[in-house]
Amino acid sequence: MIRCADVTKSYDLAGRSVAALRGVSFEIPARGFYAIMGASGSGKSTLLHLLGGIDAADSGEIEIGQARIDGLDEARLTRFRRRGVGIVFQQFNLIATMTAADNVALPGLIAGEPAGAMRERALSLLERLGLGDRASHRPEALSGGEQQRVAIARSLLFEPPVLLADEPTGNLDSASSEKLWSVLGELASEHEMTVVMVTHEPAAAAHCERVLVLRDGLVAGEINAEHRDAGDLAAEYQRLCGA
Ligand code: ADP
Ligand code: MG
Repeated sequence: MIRCADVTKSYDLAGRSVAALRGVSFEIPARGFYAIMGASGSGKSTLLHLLGGIDAADSGEIEIGQARIDGLDEARLTRFRRRGVGIVFQQFNLIATMTAADNVALPGLIAGEPAGAMRERALSLLERLGLGDRASHRPEALSGGEQQRVAIARSLLFEPPVLLADEPTGNLDSASSEKLWSVLGELASEHEMTVVMVTHEPAAAAHCERVLVLRDGLVAGEINAEHRDAGDLAAEYQRLCGA
C-alpha cells in the first residue's frame, strides 16, 4: 500500500547541504492507522511531504497504492495530489473570511467541480466529523480542535485512499487531542483509508497499529502499537532512540 525504498532528501541551507532523509525504507502493507515518531529534526515532516507528492525525493522509490509517485510528470503529480492523498498540516491553513463549509469545499471549486455538489459534500463531511452545526461559522468562531477537524474534512473532499497528518494535535489540549485521534482511527477503520500521522506524543501513537520511528533521517525501528498503552510505547520509543 505504501512503500519507500532507500529514500533520500537533502535541503540546501545557505550553500550547505542538510541531509533530512538518509536512506529511508519501510513498508505499510495494509490499510490502517499508522504513526511516524521521532525527535524534532529527525525528518518526519520531510517524509510526509514526499509521501504527499508536495516535494520530490533526491533518490529512492516511493509507492502509494499501486503507483510509483517518484518521477511522475507534473500533470500526473497534480492528479495524485488532488485525488490520491489528503494532507493535514499542523497549522490549520483555513481561510479566515470563509465559513467552515466554504473552506472544506474550496479545493473542489479550485479543481472546477460543480459548486452545489461540492457544498453538499462539504456539509456531509462536516456532519461526519461532528461539526454539522458549525458549517456556517468562520474559523475565528471555532475552537482549535474544531478548526483542525475542518481541515481534516477539507482533506477528505476527494475521498483520498490515504490521509497524511503532520502533528495534527500539536496545538490542542488533551481532551481535544483524544477526540481527534479517535476520529482519525474511525476514518481508517470505517472508511477503508490508510491514515499516517506524524506525532511526538506517545498517547497519540497508542491509538495506532504500528509506529515507524525516525532518528537522524533514518528508520530507527518499528513498534507494534496494538495492545500497548502510552507509557509502554514511550519506553519502547526511548529505547529505539537511545535517549
Ligand atoms: P521533523 O519534522 O522531524 O522535525 P523535518 O523533516 O522538518 O524534521 O527536518 C529534517 C531536517 O531537515 C532538519 O535538520 C531540518 O532543519 C532540515 N530542513 C527541513 N526543511 C528544510 C528546508 N526547507 N530548508 C533547509 N533545511 C530544512
Ligand atoms: Mg515536522
